Amino acid sequence: MEEKQLKDQDLKDLNDICEECKKEDETVSQNLILTGYKLCKSCRISKTIFPI
Ligand SMILES: [Zn+2]
Repeated sequence: MEEKQLKDQDLKDLNDICEECKKEDETVSQNLILTGYKLCKSCRISKTIFPI
């Protein structure tokens, strides 16, 4: 039963949910690919991780 819950969480992790502000943003998946961090555009800028 606990394993099922973990799988559900894994699926949620695949959504575009920013780990910083917990908001859904299409830039989250883009930043995950580009930087390896699940952050939305505004959070990435505020953290200034790999500024482009
Ligand atoms: Zn964010």
